[in-house]
Amino acid sequence: MNSLDKRLKKAAELIRGSKWLCAFTGAGISTESGIPDFRSPGGIWDRYRIVTYQEFISNHEARVGYWKMKHELFENLKHAKPNKAHLALAELERMGILKCLVTQNIDGLHQDAGNSPEIVVEIHGTNRKAICIDCNRTWPIEEIHSILEQVGYEPKCDHCGGFIKPATVSFGQAMPEKEMGRAIEAAHRSDVFLMIGSSLQVEPAASIPRLAYNSGANLIFINRTETPYDHMATVLFRESASEVMEGIINLIKKQ
Ligand SMILES: [Zn+2]
Repeated sequence: MNSLDKRLKKAAELIRGSKWLCAFTGAGISTESGIPDFRSPGGIWDRYRIVTYQEFISNHEARVGYWKMKHELFENLKHAKPNKAHLALAELERMGILKCLVTQNIDGLHQDAGNSPEIVVEIHGTNRKAICIDCNRTWPIEEIHSILEQVGYEPKCDHCGGFIKPATVSFGQAMPEKEMGRAIEAAHRSDVFLMIGSSLQVEPAASIPRLAYNSGANLIFINRTETPYDHMATVLFRESASEVMEGIINLIKKQ
């Protein structure tokens, strides 16, 4: 494809000229903040097995293993900071350009970067909250992590006795309807769709860029590896997300 400079210029033009920009992010935007992509080999994911929602609700060992894994991740990642790509998306919102930010990530780094909760749509839930699976009461996740060692790695709701789970969408659990509805609507509405750091392998999330394309949006893809929809992209980057986003923001500011 074209040189990096040409692609940055093209992407900056599209974004600056957009009427309704939707961004869509995956694990690849947060790896530069030190958050591991669980599909990559090595580290924590090799020591814990994946626990499905059905196992979580029916099996004591699965609940304990799941919370131990979440606790180790929490301790490792609680100081993770947004990187230049997150900060660039916050800047695009402040400029009035970015209208919706759909994310597959559960790390809360978009809000830390300064994007407002109103425009962030977390289709896989969030690690920042815990929820009772029976009465839907929620807690800040720090509160639950701070009591795990006292109550054992199987926290229960003090209101109804139900099991408490991080407010993320587990394997085998339905996607949240409201968030998926908002994501689909945003994809339809967008005229420019900026995808950062997703290999677009997981359905139904991967269908969102496809919807934007079918609705006539120009697609900009920033991802280290190939995706099944690369042929739909008007501009394609394999470079680092933070470097590309910094380059785009600098060009938009100059114009
Ligand atoms: Zn409850």
